[in-house]
Amino acid sequence: GKFPTTIVTNTPVTQTHQPFACARTKIPTRQAIALISEHGDPAAEIGKDAAGGQNVYVRQVGEALAKLGWQVDMFTRKSSPYDATIVQHTPHCRTIRLIAGPETYIPRDELFQYMPEFVDALQKFQQKEGTNYPLAHTNYWMSGWVGLELKRRQNIQLIHTYHSLGAVKYQSVSDIPAIAQTRLEVEKQLLEQAHSIVATSPQEKADLENLVSRIGSIDIIPCGTDVSTFRPISKADARKQLGIGAKEKVVLYVGRFDKRKGIETLVRATGELRSKLEQGAEIDPQNLKLLIVGGSDPQEADGAERRRIEEIVTELDLHANTEFVGMVGHDRLALYYTAADVCVIPSHYEPFGLVAIEAMACGTPVVASAVGGLKFTVISEETGLLVPPHDVSKFAHAIGRILTDEVWARKMRKQASTRVHQNFSWTGVAIQLSDLYRYLLAQSLVGSGLKPVASSPAALVSKLIAS
Ligand code: UDP
Repeated sequence: GKFPTTIVTNTPVTQTHQPFACARTKIPTRQAIALISEHGDPAAEIGKDAAGGQNVYVRQVGEALAKLGWQVDMFTRKSSPYDATIVQHTPHCRTIRLIAGPETYIPRDELFQYMPEFVDALQKFQQKEGTNYPLAHTNYWMSGWVGLELKRRQNIQLIHTYHSLGAVKYQSVSDIPAIAQTRLEVEKQLLEQAHSIVATSPQEKADLENLVSRIGSIDIIPCGTDVSTFRPISKADARKQLGIGAKEKVVLYVGRFDKRKGIETLVRATGELRSKLEQGAEIDPQNLKLLIVGGSDPQEADGAERRRIEEIVTELDLHANTEFVGMVGHDRLALYYTAADVCVIPSHYEPFGLVAIEAMACGTPVVASAVGGLKFTVISEETGLLVPPHDVSKFAHAIGRILTDEVWARKMRKQASTRVHQNFSWTGVAIQLSDLYRYLLAQSLVGSGLKPVASSPAALVSKLIAS
């Protein structure tokens, strides 16, 4: 790996610094670290409205880091009085819900005003526990702001993951919220001031450098997926369990109902594909099935987007070909991925896109928009196809190619799962993060007098050994 894995535990330095597994203490103490995710509650049910990739990321990374020896405290905002204040995930990994603003769901664009309260609550929690986290990994810009505040008040190593970047996002949406300017400023401060930015793909790194600032230290560590949950199983079995016939051609969407996800493009592409099938003889158009998996609440924005999509289904007379499955938990999602012939991710913008690696891990080829992290995870012609976003005809054509070429599709199924198992397991991701944390903690002990060394872990290691 890029960072030294053993140096911190082996040098005298750690003895003054509460090492995570100090040989001299009777009870091994673990280094406590904070993962902060103000709106993506790691203990929340996944797949509903605001609960998406960020929740999954924080929880999986947190639990995997605990397995690697850290005490992981994950902080989020308490958004319901019925939610427990502390959720213990594993013996050394817990979610702590802080009171910051009313204990109800608050849309992201209205959340920033409660962040000072979040910082105070976090500091109070530290006082109560008698700890000071030496390291915080923040997620999304508002948590990042919390991290910057903590950094001003205490000695803390700040690592930040954006999950979504205002500078990119606002290029593709028409209604720019009032908070946009603040967000862009905070995102720039984070890049310039955090000890490390974790970009999840080379594309995100390039976006940061081109659109946000040239100053900053960026490491690329991808998102991961649970490869024991998402693994290739028998397609015939999966179809049997879901009541899908062998002849059906299944096109799958998994994700939130959000305009940015481009579900409209997929529905229209399905319509175009069906018209094409009606002219040829290769596939019976009746066997074309679009499964849309994802939760929504009729009272919320995702409910409105679902209704909009349903109207397009009606407009195109696609009811017989379309099924709205609703929310499916990770325990059953592998069945859907495996049963599908192709998984489609038509997002206008996608910082990483966990669904792509989940589908590929199950051996399902992916047709995705050539945007953001999808350009990094999906290898066009090998694990699926990349298509320009919004382009209905190109999506229809790409989906059609995979549905009609079984030999090629079978080859891609293998390549897709191999790619994910080799590159995107949570354990692998957590090891890379863990190495980065240790490196930053070691660096903070050496002090700022050695700044130039910072860019070279190897040089830092020799320095530490020498001292
Ligand atoms: N998801 C789920 N059930 C659903 C819909 C989505 O478990 O019914 C999960 C999906 O498996 C993935 C996450 O929600 O892990 C979505 O992450 P992604 O990065 O694709 O999109 P985001 O929601 O972050 O925009």
